[in-house]
Amino acid sequence: MPKTAPPAAESPAKIFRSEEELATLPASERIRYRLVKAQRRYHANDNIAAFVRDGELTELKAEVQAKLQEVLQALVTDTESDHNTNETAKRVAKMYVEEVFRGRYVPMPAVTEFPNVERLNELMIVGPITVRSACSHHMCPIFGKVWIGILPNEHSNLIGLSKYARIADWIMSRPQIQEEAVTMLANELQERVRPDGLAIVMEADHFCMHWRGVKDTDTSMVNSVMRGAFLKDANLRREFLSLLPRKQS
Ligand SMILES: [Zn+2]
Repeated sequence: MPKTAPPAAESPAKIFRSEEELATLPASERIRYRLVKAQRRYHANDNIAAFVRDGELTELKAEVQAKLQEVLQALVTDTESDHNTNETAKRVAKMYVEEVFRGRYVPMPAVTEFPNVERLNELMIVGPITVRSACSHHMCPIFGKVWIGILPNEHSNLIGLSKYARIADWIMSRPQIQEEAVTMLANELQERVRPDGLAIVMEADHFCMHWRGVKDTDTSMVNSVMRGAFLKDANLRREFLSLLPRKQS
């Protein structure tokens, strides 16, 4: 019996177009092609700056504006004669791309690391750092505070105090899930500072709880990540937590 060759699987390289071909597509499609080709995840809280070329953010903003205009239309809003919503699609597109979700599209802020010449090895607490984000589920605002505990060792790199806030802002300026946000922040700091112990506590108000759903105005959510010495040493953990001036404590 003659063997029939299985249909040749198309090589993945063929699916992806050249940059010239991509140039004819909307910016979001172009960026998506590059991400898929590189097998990179692009969830709402992933940073995709390495896949965005010069000028493409401007194109993205225009695309988002056009889609938001359709959302307003679907909500049966007369944006032509209603002066309040006339420019809303444009304003919101700018707010998403340039402000509240900016942490997806720009690279991490430059952070200078200093060797620990003084060989500091005492618990260091940074905070409260005010953070703003939006939940991935409802795109509703999240407002909160973050505290960071660091137990350095002689090989740790130290970073300037204001840099903790910059890195936190970069991670929070994306549609987020609080548990994932604190883990992302911990990973970033672990890699940069390489301390013996790292602890992060985030306490935040989720406006999807206040504005919709149960309309509960008092509930806030607290998450923590403990690594290294903070996991092993209950006294260190207690010391860190006792020093946080949290609102319900
Ligand atoms: Zn939500």
